[in-house]
Order: sequence, then structure tokens, then C-alpha cells
Amino acid sequence: MTDQPAVWLEALPMPALLCGRDGFARGINRSGREAFVWDAQAPIERQSWRVLLFGLGPTLVEAVQQVAAGDVSASDLDVDGPGERRYRCRIVPVGDAVLVSATDTTAERARDEAWQALRREYRTLWAALPATVLVADASGQLRSSLDGEPRSQHRDDESETLRRRWEQEAPHDPLRHQPIEWLETPAMRALGGQVIHGQRIEVRRPEGRRVVEAHAAPMRDVDGRVSGVVVVEWDVTELARLELRVQEQAGEAAALQARAASATDSIERLVEERSRALLASQEEQVRERRLAALGQLAAGVMHDVNNALNPIMAAAYLLRHHAESPEAVRDYADRIRKAAEIGAATASRVGRFIRQEPVHVGGDEVIDLSALADEVVDLTEPMRLRRSSEAQEVRVERQLGADVHMRGLPGEIREALLNLVQNAIDAMPKGGTLTLRTAVEGNEVCIAVRDTGVGMTEEVRERAFDPFFSTKGAGGTGLGLAEVYGIARRHRGSAAITSVPERGTEVLLRFPRWRERNGRPTPSQPLLPTQPQRILVVEDHDDGRDFLRRILEADGHTVAVAASVREGERALEAAGPPFDLLLTDVGLPDGSGWSLVKTARARFPDLRVGVITGWEPQVGTSEAQAVEFVLRKPLRAAELKSHIAAPLRRDTTSET
Ligand code: ADP
Ligand code: MG
Repeated sequence: MTDQPAVWLEALPMPALLCGRDGFARGINRSGREAFVWDAQAPIERQSWRVLLFGLGPTLVEAVQQVAAGDVSASDLDVDGPGERRYRCRIVPVGDAVLVSATDTTAERARDEAWQALRREYRTLWAALPATVLVADASGQLRSSLDGEPRSQHRDDESETLRRRWEQEAPHDPLRHQPIEWLETPAMRALGGQVIHGQRIEVRRPEGRRVVEAHAAPMRDVDGRVSGVVVVEWDVTELARLELRVQEQAGEAAALQARAASATDSIERLVEERSRALLASQEEQVRERRLAALGQLAAGVMHDVNNALNPIMAAAYLLRHHAESPEAVRDYADRIRKAAEIGAATASRVGRFIRQEPVHVGGDEVIDLSALADEVVDLTEPMRLRRSSEAQEVRVERQLGADVHMRGLPGEIREALLNLVQNAIDAMPKGGTLTLRTAVEGNEVCIAVRDTGVGMTEEVRERAFDPFFSTKGAGGTGLGLAEVYGIARRHRGSAAITSVPERGTEVLLRFPRWRERNGRPTPSQPLLPTQPQRILVVEDHDDGRDFLRRILEADGHTVAVAASVREGERALEAAGPPFDLLLTDVGLPDGSGWSLVKTARARFPDLRVGVITGWEPQVGTSEAQAVEFVLRKPLRAAELKSHIAAPLRRDTTSET
């Protein structure tokens, strides 16, 4: 073989050079001629292998010398060649020569470096991940793994397998609390070709039980066959705990909310019930007060009416027995009239506070409250003098303003003031000061009656305006303040009491102010002398109808009578010359007098109409304003006469 070096050298697939121990080359193959530096002109045996190998560096030359000298048996060496090339050189003794063969490893080395760089990158990447990364081959052998968390340390444990890991970690499904079978682990499923994303697994680790979220994917070779698996596991123990807490809290919150909602519900129900109960009890109180007031009113009226009827009945009885004596008849007639007057007065007083509709404009006048106050002081002088002579003096103080004008019925206002002054004097049995004050306050005028008397308790003050409420026993009617209240309301005003027990009381009345520019009150029209008239009287009470007819006939009028709405209508139609005046009751057996008024008015526009009622006159209603006058029972003859004598409403003269 050594004899034919040129032959076998040529059989080598890499550059090869045979170096003799004498320092000269013995042979070189074709690829060697390209790799080494040699002189093509001279035969190879004449050339020094030191020179030939010079291009691959002195290290190689040295290594060849060592092998040639027998210092080492053989040697492998990586060297840099010209043109950035790399060679792996093998130096082996061959007989008395040394064979140097060089494999070009330039490409292999580049690949190796790229691989190493890639590996470094991956390691860095994995180290940066807060996760465990496992790489296993198709047999389940762990090839390389990285624990990012918590040890963050590269572990190349070739002995470990996926199976062993499964045994150690005993993975569980955290939701169903069931062990995960070996073939069901993410790694094994990935080896089966699936890609697994985020499977929650509970595992046993040296630091305790942990919950991880596993992702796994198969690795494939160039032919697409599964060659291994990559598993990434995130430790989500804290997250899972938090989630659980959040879930629990959400549950608690929901329960709480439900409780709160039901509590709100029941509170609302309770409030509703309570407010309904409250409302009911308030209504009840109001109803009770109203009932009490009504009872008081009825009792009072009954008392007064009985008091009035008593002498009437007695007198009527006695009258029968003394009918023959004209003196006795006159005496009893007088007594009957007096008693009836008292009864009538009671009824009218009751009526005055029941009536609260505003005063009908027309019958009213401008009232100077200061002048009226003066008048009342004068009127009550005897009362005060009486009191003063009994005990100590009642002094009067006037604080009267100018231009304190209102509009209304002076008689009513006077009566209200008289009632107030009477009460004030009653309240000062030991004397004191009575003050009358009037003033203009913006759009209002006020008049106050103040005393320095006994005052009222809160209870008395609250009930003082109630009709028939009195603390004076037999000495009081309990109607004074009720009347004052009614009068104030009728004049679109108000009445208020301020009182301190043992110190005194002030009753203050307020009314709308009247000013000059409001216009002068209309002067009342002159009365015409009473002329005989044709009058239709409609009244269902026989006595009442008869008396009325007699009174009217006594004045020279021609009177026809009817007892119901139908009779009245018929009488109106049947009349020869038309009636001048219709006088009708309201409460008729077959309907209301107002309906008769309506038909009569429509049929005979010139007919004058007067309405007589035992009920409250509907002053203020359109019906009442359409008639000439409204009178209340008991009728007073003089009042009736003055209305009948009033000027005709229209300019139509009667035929007389
Ligand atoms: P009467 O005077 O007939 O009792 P009133 O309606 O005038 O009826 O008064 C009702 C009650 O109001 C009186 O009984 C009295 O208790 C109380 N009262 C009225 N005015 C005064 C006052 N000036 N001072 C103290 N109490 C008063
Ligand atoms: Mg009184």
C-alpha cells in the first residue's frame, strides 16, 4: 500500500497528503492539490510537506511532527484554511510516513453555530417565561426542559420521562376532582397529534399542590410525522384561588343583594302599610272631630230650639184656656213671638257660620275699619262700664290707621267686632286693657282685638272657632267666634287667634284691601213705592203658603197659590194677564223650586223671581244670581216687603 501511495490516496474522498519522516512529501491526491499549497512544476517527492501544510497553520505542522516523531499515535485537529474555510484534519501514521487528511467542515461549522445561537435564544426565551417548558421525543423521553418558575433554571435530565413525571405529579382535574389518566395528559394527547390550549390541571409539586394551565403541541419531522412534543405549563394557582374567591364573593354579593332586595321590599311594604294606617287614622281623626263638632252643633241647636219651643208650647196651651180674655191672648201672643224670635235668632246664627260663600257683590259697601272700630267701642261702652263698676276698670286703647278700607257688609263686620269685644271683656273679670288696632298691610287690611285677660290653653285655642264650643257654661253660646270665622271667610278674609294663658289674647282679622281706584261702590237705587202686583206663591207647607198669601194681600197685591212645581208651571201658563212676581219655595214635593224658576224664566223673561228657602240660600251660584232676591225662613214681613218694593229689574212697566 505504501508502495503505491498515488493509487490509494486518490481513493480517499477528501484532500490527503502523505508526509515522509524525512520532511518531504510522498504523495498527494487530486483534491489535496486544490487544498494545499504546492508547486505544480516540481515532482511531489521533491517538495517539503512543511511548506505544503503552511497554509493551514503552524499548529497542524507541529501536530504532524509529533505524530512523525512517534510522540503521539494519532491526532485530530480543526484548523482554519485559506479563504475562511475550516478543516478537520486527521493525522495518522502509515508505515514510515504520516497521512494528513482534511475534511472541509466550513458548512457544518456554520450550521453548528447557527444551532447554538438558536438554542441560546430559546433558552433565553424560556428563561424569561414564567412557565415550565418541556420538550420530549416521540418515546416520551424528556430531551430538554426549562423551569421558568420558580427555579428558573435549566435542567437537562435525560433520565426523566413524561411517564415518570405523570406518576410523580398525579395530575387531577381541579373541577371534577378526578385523576387524569396517562393517555389523557396534554403531552400524550399532543403526541397523538392534537394541539391542547389551556387545560387546567392540579399537580403535586415539591412546593405543594399547584394548579397549572397546560398547553401542548406536537413537533413534526420533515415528513410530517410526530417526532416529539412541546409542553408549556403556567402556574395559575394564585389566579385559580383568586377566581374562586371572586366566585365565592360574587355568590355572597348576589345573596346579599337578594337579601337587601327582599329587605327593601319588606321595608317598602311596611312603609306603605304604615302610611296607609297613618292616613286612615288621620282620616278617622278628622272624621271624629267632624262628628264631634256636628254632635256639638246638633246638641246646641236642639238646646236652643227646645228652649224656644218650651214657652211657645206652654203659651199655646194656655191660650186655648184663656181665649176669652183679650188681654191674656195679647200677652201669650207676645210671649210666643218673643220665643219664636229667639229660635229664629239661633237658626240664623247657625246659618251665618255655615254659610261661607263669598259676599255677593252688590249688597256690599266700602267699609272704613277704623271708623267701624270707633263705633264698636262706643256701642260696647255700657258693657265695659258694667264690668268696670263690678271690678276694676277696662281701659280702651285705639291704634287705628288711616284709609283702612275694605268692601263688604258693614252689619256683619260690626257684628264680628262686637263678638270679639264681648269675648275680650268676658276674659278680663279683673279689668285690663282692651286694644283695637287697624292697619293696612300691602294688599290687605287687618283689624285686631286684643285683651290682657285670662288667655286660652292650646286646646281651647284649637277649638275656639268650633260652633257651640264654650267654656262659659250657661253664660256662653259658643257661637261668637264661629260667627266671626264665618263672616271673615265670607269676606274672603281670615281669622286667627294668638293667646297666652294668664297674659291675654289677640284675634286678628284680615281682609282684601279696597282702594279708591277700584271704583266707588254703586249707589243703591231709589226704592219705588210699593205698587199692587200680581204674585204667584209656590209653597208646599199649607200654613206657610196661607200666611204668605195673607201678608201679601194685606199690602194690596193679587195673589195666586200653588203647592208643587207642576202646579206652579200650570198656574203660570193659565194666567190671563202675566204675573209680575214669582215667589217660590225651594224644597217642593215634585222637584226643586230652582227648576221652576228656570222654566218660568225661559217662558216669561220679564217675570221677577224671589226664592224663599229654609235651606242655605245658594248665594253665589249662577242660579241664585239669576233671580231678584233670595230670602231665608223664617220670613220677616218687613224684609219681604222691601224686596217686593225694589225697582223693577227691566224697564218694562206693569199694566197698572
Ligand atoms: P262664648 O263666648 O259664647 O263662649 P265664643 O265662640 O265667643 O263663645 O268663644 C268660645 C270660647 O273661646 C270661649 O268660651 C272662651 O273659652 C274662648 N275665648 C274666646 N275669646 C276669648 C278671649 N278673648 N280670651 C280668652 N278666651 C276666649
Ligand atoms: Mg263669645
